[in-house]
Amino acid sequence: MSSKYCRECGTKLIEKELEHEGMIPFCPKCDQFRFPQYNVAVIMIVINKSNDKILLIRQYGRPFFILVAGYVTRGESLEDAVRREVREETGMTVSSLKFNRSQYFEKSDALMCNFTAFVDDDAGFDPNYEIDSYGWFTREEARKNIRPDSLAEYFLVSYLDEQQI
Ligand SMILES: [Zn+2]
Repeated sequence: MSSKYCRECGTKLIEKELEHEGMIPFCPKCDQFRFPQYNVAVIMIVINKSNDKILLIRQYGRPFFILVAGYVTRGESLEDAVRREVREETGMTVSSLKFNRSQYFEKSDALMCNFTAFVDDDAGFDPNYEIDSYGWFTREEARKNIRPDSLAEYFLVSYLDEQQI
């Protein structure tokens, strides 16, 4: 995301000193500092009620399995974004969630925040149009089926290794 121009008014930004922060992009028209922005996204390891299966999905006609993910909207907490994305994409309700770890992903200029999301109503799975197909995998199967060399794999494998499964 370019930070050369003001995101509110489009004026070319200048650099101005901000106490304790150093030189920060500044919009002379708005008379406000414009800290560089990037996207924030949540990416979820969705686990069923009996805590023995992990949900992996396929999207956009691609052959590999990934995790449910989506962007955090302005004003929304990470926790709310997790609940909303799982609800929107799968129709299921998150009963509890836990933060695992985060990683910056350059391709989408996004800070990816990984959560475990437990759902009680896995019988009520109702995928939306964004999901081509899906599967509930045991931990071992999930490890084998997640897209290789992806950020999803990194999050999933880190989580599974932590659980020593
Ligand atoms: Zn401006």
